[in-house]
Amino acid sequence: MEQIDMFDIINTKNEIPDKKIPKTAVLKKKELWCPYCSKPVIFTADRVLGVKRCPYCGISNKDYNVKMVNDRWIKR
Ligand SMILES: [Zn+2]
Repeated sequence: MEQIDMFDIINTKNEIPDKKIPKTAVLKKKELWCPYCSKPVIFTADRVLGVKRCPYCGISNKDYNVKMVNDRWIKR
């Protein structure tokens, strides 16, 4: 039997995105909080659109809620 990590393949797209990063969350270098997945992710570059995207839900770092929740990490 193949081992499949369910959490990796399920796209948990929150209907109501997080407004703040939980205080217990620890972000490593390059990680941003995905308000739709409710976890730290490394946004990957989308060369076609010239943006960065969450590898799980595909939201771009130009998204309003992504910017809001990562206020301290994204330079404006
Ligand atoms: Zn996401």
